[in-house]
Amino acid sequence: MDQYHTLLFDLDDTLLDFGRAEQTALEKVLAHFEMEAAPEFFQLYREINKAHWEMLERNELTKDEVLSYRHERFFEALGKKVDGSKVDQLYRNTIAEHGHHLFDGTLDVIEELSRTHRLFIITNGVKATQQKRLHRSGLLPYFSGVFISEDTGYQKPMRAFFDYVAARIEQFDRKSALIIGDSLTSDIKGGHDSNIDTCWYNPLGKSNPFSFSPHYEIKQLNEIYSILTSRNS
Ligand SMILES: [Mg+2]
Repeated sequence: MDQYHTLLFDLDDTLLDFGRAEQTALEKVLAHFEMEAAPEFFQLYREINKAHWEMLERNELTKDEVLSYRHERFFEALGKKVDGSKVDQLYRNTIAEHGHHLFDGTLDVIEELSRTHRLFIITNGVKATQQKRLHRSGLLPYFSGVFISEDTGYQKPMRAFFDYVAARIEQFDRKSALIIGDSLTSDIKGGHDSNIDTCWYNPLGKSNPFSFSPHYEIKQLNEIYSILTSRNS
């Protein structure tokens, strides 16, 4: 078997704790309107947010509409009328400023892996926001490159995104690359469709309802060592 030389890491909810960033941003937005941040509001927001991104996948809304409507619907549910695009600006600025918290132990794992492997980030998102967060997280020195969907013109799980990445990494060989990510629909499906092996980071032990499967599944990032070692033997 070929060894894995190149590791392609997803960013949000794989290395960076996006849930925490989202919570901080929502607190800031609620504070702006002098409203308390009740715990049930976070769940409500997440449900509304998820429903809106699903509407984008079904082509029922544009991305800009998703970004503003999600806040308008959320505040509507709380009995308040807001300008969604203004709220979204505050929301996303807060994520850019404060959304750089790593999961515990992540930096150690990445540092160690960077001694033996080539590491890259593959992330869907807005360039300015992701770059700021990456810079503040302390991750950047360990990565040989960063691919952000806004830059590439494509997004995970599109084959074109992975072709773009493959064409820009020196001596890239699909057989010796591994994608590590938390999202079945973007990271794992993307790898599956692009003939790159995948490792599903699944800390909560969710089940997989789809017809495609990851090659590996881990609950903690440091479990990746045993995958890489077994491949080497
Ligand atoms: Mg992710």
